Amino acid sequence: MKIRTVICANPYCLKDFETTNSKQKFCCLYCKNQAAYWHKQKYYKWEVEIQKGRLNNIRILEELIQRKHNNVNSNELLKMGFDFKIALLPDKDDLNRYVYRFGNLYLVQISKFDFNIIELAKIKFSKNEDN
Ligand SMILES: [Zn+2]
Repeated sequence: MKIRTVICANPYCLKDFETTNSKQKFCCLYCKNQAAYWHKQKYYKWEVEIQKGRLNNIRILEELIQRKHNNVNSNELLKMGFDFKIALLPDKDDLNRYVYRFGNLYLVQISKFDFNIIELAKIKFSKNEDN
């Protein structure tokens, strides 16, 4: 095996290291992960923020459903830090209400400002959208 000296491809490291692996670009796993993290931050910033926001929304809904607080209005959700801008396009349930999925929970819009939080297994979708 030929040993070669390589400069770590992590722009925050750039340290020389020796390797026999012709494909190795990073001096260690930490540098590989750090470079991937910053690449994602630089080129996919919007997606990273949306992903964080969605996880935060999921955390809020899970907290509410654990407290058996299944009926909630938009003001309560906003006070808890829920971000409505992060909802994906909604489905419709069998009662033609808008249904937003967050993780294993659904947020069902029952009126302009009121929502029900329903667990994944407990919802019925409109038959039109099944196939
Ligand atoms: Zn490195």
